[in-house]
Amino acid sequence: MKRIITVLGLSLLTVSTLSPAGEWTLPQAPFRVHGNTYYVGTRGLSAVLIASDAGHVLIDVPMEENLDLIEASIRALGFRVEDVRLILNSHAHHDHAGGIAGMALRSGAEVRASSASARALRLGGNDPDDPQHGSAPAFTPVSLVDVFEEGARLRLGAIEVSAHPTPGHTPGSTSWSWRSCEGKRCLTVVYADSLSAMANPPYRYSDPRHPERIENFRRGLKALARIDCDILITPHPEASGFFDRLARREAGEADALRDRDACRHYAEAASERLDEQIGRESAGQVR
Ligand SMILES: [Zn+2]
Repeated sequence: MKRIITVLGLSLLTVSTLSPAGEWTLPQAPFRVHGNTYYVGTRGLSAVLIASDAGHVLIDVPMEENLDLIEASIRALGFRVEDVRLILNSHAHHDHAGGIAGMALRSGAEVRASSASARALRLGGNDPDDPQHGSAPAFTPVSLVDVFEEGARLRLGAIEVSAHPTPGHTPGSTSWSWRSCEGKRCLTVVYADSLSAMANPPYRYSDPRHPERIENFRRGLKALARIDCDILITPHPEASGFFDRLARREAGEADALRDRDACRHYAEAASERLDEQIGRESAGQVR
C-alpha cells in the first residue's frame, strides 16, 4: 500500500490519510488513560495496555502492519513487550485482531478468548458464522488460543479484567471492564466492543432459523447499558468520541475522559441501529 502511494504521489496519500481507513495506520503518541491503563493504538484503531508488576494485559492488536507502531508505543511508555503476558480481543476482525498472532510471537503472551472468538481467531477471521463472512478481510490465524468461560474474570497479578459478552457485530464479540487506580482514585474503564449490525448477504440478523442472533445481541446491549462505567474506550475510538474527550482533557478539563453515561448511550445508539438493520432486512433491502 505504501509503495502504491509513493508511486502515485501526494494526492492519493492525502485522500488515504483523510479517510477513516487511512487513520487506521497513522501513529498516535501513547498516553495514560487513567492509573495503569494506557492507550497504545493507532490514531484510528485502539489497543489498550493494562500494566502491572506481574506483567501486562494487552487488549486488541489492530492490523498486522501496525505491529511495529504498537510495540514502539509500549516501549515509549517504558514497558517491555516481553512483559505482555495476556492478549485479549474485542472481536476477530483484521482491524482489531490482525496483529495478535505476531504480538503473541514477539511477547510470548497467552491469548484468551470467548469460545466463538477463539474459533474465529484460529480461522484468521474466515468464520462462516460471522455476519460479514465473505466481505471481512482475512488475517494471520492465531494458532494458540485459550477459551474462557462466559462471564469470566481474568487475573494477572493485581489486574482483574471482566469479560462481558456483547455478541452481534461478531458472534464472539466481547467487552471488557476493569478498575484502574490513580492514587486513591479508582475508576472503572470499559473497553466496549463494536456494536454495529453489519451483514453481508445472505446473512440476516432476523433470519427466522436463528432467533438467537437478535436475542443475544439485545441481551448484550442491555447488560452493557447497565454496566459500571467511568471511562469508555471503543475499538474504533471515534465511535465513542474518545479523541474529542482526550482533546478536552489536554485543554485542561481534567475529568474529560470520564462519562458515567457513556456506556449506556453507546449501547442505546447501537440498539437503534440494530432496529434499523432489522427494518431493512424485513423490507427486503440489502444494507
Ligand atoms: Zn469489526
